[in-house]
Order: sequence, then C-alpha cells, then structure tokens
Amino acid sequence: MELWIGIMMSGAAAALLLGIWAVSRKSRNSGNVTRLKDFKKKKRNGQPCSFCRKKSEDLAFYADENGQIVGVCKSCRPMAERRELGRL
Ligand SMILES: [Zn+2]
Repeated sequence: MELWIGIMMSGAAAALLLGIWAVSRKSRNSGNVTRLKDFKKKKRNGQPCSFCRKKSEDLAFYADENGQIVGVCKSCRPMAERRELGRL
C-alpha cells in the first residue's frame, strides 16, 4: 500500500515538473520576433486571415492570449480590437 502511495506521489511530482517545464519552455519560447518575421515574409503571398480565413494582402498582426501571432484582415480587425489583442 505504501509503495502504491509512493508511486502516486512520484507520478504527481513528475506531472507537476512536466507542467513547470512546459510552461517555462513556452515562456522562454518567446522567439516571437523570428516568428513574426516568418509570418510577415509570407504576407506578400497573401496570408489567410486568422479569423475568417480569407486571403488578404493587408493583414494587421496581433499577439493573441497564447502569444500566438495572428494576421487579421481589415474586416476582422474590430474583432481583434474587441478581444484587446496586442497590436504588433
Ligand atoms: Zn478576416
């Protein structure tokens, strides 16, 4: 029985560590600058809007709640503004 509890505990600890690792990895992974560059590079070919998926030459770039970069077309821009996404 004690062994079983031990396994449970180490399992929980491992899960916790994994969670911390994932979070720290995510925050460290703020290579947003390079990703933004890549994103903008593609822009010339007409990137699809992240909201309506329509291709647009004139996208505005925002960082969403998860730090993901989204390209937003003119007509979806008010939606991004309403979500208070950080304009890039
Ligand atoms: Zn759109």
